[in-house]
Amino acid sequence: MSETIKTDVLIIGAGPVGLFAVFELGLLDIKAHLVDILDKVGGQCAELYPEKPIYDIPGIPYITGHGLTEALMAQIKPFNPTFHLGEMVTTLDKIGEPAFRVATDAGKTFEAKCVVIAAGGGSFQPKRPPINGIEPYEEKSVFYAVRKMENFRDKKLLIVGGGDSALDWTLNLQPVAQRLTLVHRRDEFRGAPDSVNKMRELVAAGQMDLKIGQVSELEGDGGKLAAVSIKDKAGATSRVEIDAMLPFFGLTMKLGPVADWGIELKDNLIPVDTGTFESNVPGLFAIGDINTYPGKLKLILSGFHEAALMAQQAYHYVFPDKKLVFQYTTSSTSLQKKLGVA
Ligand SMILES: Cc1cc2nc3c(=O)[nH]c(=O)nc-3n(C[C@H](O)[C@H](O)[C@H](O)COP(=O)(O)OP(=O)(O)OC[C@H]3O[C@@H](n4cnc5c(N)ncnc54)[C@H](O)[C@@H]3O)c2cc1C
Repeated sequence: MSETIKTDVLIIGAGPVGLFAVFELGLLDIKAHLVDILDKVGGQCAELYPEKPIYDIPGIPYITGHGLTEALMAQIKPFNPTFHLGEMVTTLDKIGEPAFRVATDAGKTFEAKCVVIAAGGGSFQPKRPPINGIEPYEEKSVFYAVRKMENFRDKKLLIVGGGDSALDWTLNLQPVAQRLTLVHRRDEFRGAPDSVNKMRELVAAGQMDLKIGQVSELEGDGGKLAAVSIKDKAGATSRVEIDAMLPFFGLTMKLGPVADWGIELKDNLIPVDTGTFESNVPGLFAIGDINTYPGKLKLILSGFHEAALMAQQAYHYVFPDKKLVFQYTTSSTSLQKKLGVA
């Protein structure tokens, strides 16, 4: 078992609100680790609308989801947070007054004085493709994410999908795989044109295969895939021998494991005290889209306010013997030193 990582605060979710929480905690000398199931930071802004404009971030008339994520990452850089991406928090246990043990599906364990749940609408989870009998193969020879490319070395791989994830993993895994086949239902791709061109060059050079159609049948035994049948538009079927299949059909948001952590929930949201943004468990905070209180608006600016108040309360748990003095970043040289500007 891996060693336990100790931290002042563990933040579950690296969406815009989880990221800004690092800033508010950092100003108060509180160190944070963040875990997110996505392989990138930014939550909904990065996953659902990276190119769309946001017009209601205070003081910023216009910024895209991607732009806001980049700006938040620049803002929290002085506090050097540690990210654990591509990992889902599966369990959360109270081990002290307050203290928590948190585990991820990648086998990591954290011990933190406080936990901040900034899990938004829940965890982004892959959409299952409509293929009969796929379940017994999942996590054995059907994978919805690539955790380690080495696991696919010298394997016969089938990637299914036509978006950026399918194309990016096609380009990344093609040099590693024994043979790679990409299957998409039509000969047009939603992914970046540059990736599409690179994929077509590999096909033209005979270094990978492209099949237009849909996976109609799986062959295998005991969770181990042996081959798939692919049906084209005209109804003709071809058979491809494979060791593993990687479908990339997009992501959907589900509350996920948060529901199993013994926290009081209301309509799948965490009720909080609006003075501290703490749940019914002291030291366990909920900020951003995941919380609920009278008048709650699921806006990024609300989450930023919640992060600031959460940090004030977390300070008392992390430094029980110290007095907290309220300061402005404009006039406090101590805050400016932490930000690296004084
Ligand atoms: C199309 C669209 C347009 C929008 N436009 C605006 C706008 O103009 N202005 C505005 O203010 N808001 C807008 N919003 C809403 C805004 O994006 C959300 O309010 C904001 O993203 C909430 O931030 P968050 O950090 O609370 O959660 P999220 O952005 O949802 O991030 C939560 C993160 O937690 C992770 N997570 C969840 N559970 C786990 C777990 N168990 N383990 C590990 N990680 C986990 C998720 O993977 C996710 O990355 C828009 C939303 C959408 C969908």
